[in-house]
Amino acid sequence: MTVDARKDWDTYFMDIAFMVSTRSRCPRRHVGAVLVQGKKLLGTAYNGAPMGVPDCSEAGCMIAEEYEFVDVDGEDQMIKKQRCVRTIHAEQNLLLFTDRIDRENSSVYVTDEPCWTCANMLANSGVTEIVFYRSYPKDTDKVTEMMKQKGISFRKLEHYEPPHETLMTVSN
Ligand SMILES: [Zn+2]
Ligand SMILES: [Zn+2]
Repeated sequence: MTVDARKDWDTYFMDIAFMVSTRSRCPRRHVGAVLVQGKKLLGTAYNGAPMGVPDCSEAGCMIAEEYEFVDVDGEDQMIKKQRCVRTIHAEQNLLLFTDRIDRENSSVYVTDEPCWTCANMLANSGVTEIVFYRSYPKDTDKVTEMMKQKGISFRKLEHYEPPHETLMTVSN
């Protein structure tokens, strides 16, 4: 019996998304996204400041604080969270740098589950499948519901391990 050692398509494209994420200059979050149409790679993007504007590595992160309800041992607790708002999210950059015609019936592989704003934009972009790896619990309920309403396949990649060299420690 021969073992087929080739990567399946999900692993292949998610690995590329993780490779792309290493381009991010935000020390708090590295997100990569790729556009795939019929197994063809048509675009890549990561989270970053607009071109020509100092990025997080030069100007530091731009921190916004917000309160979030988090489930702690079955109890909702208000937790103060910090996030960097300097960068354009990877999914939004992907939409800025790809053509509508390339997005029709396409898939997006993204390292992190899209936030509500990105999910809304993706839902209106022609994309019909979104595959992510890391969960983003804050928005997952409303995003999952919206994807269902739009008939977009929305799935978390299980049994997957990102390429080791692409992982970084992020502060939360
Ligand atoms: Zn940052
Ligand atoms: Zn987002």
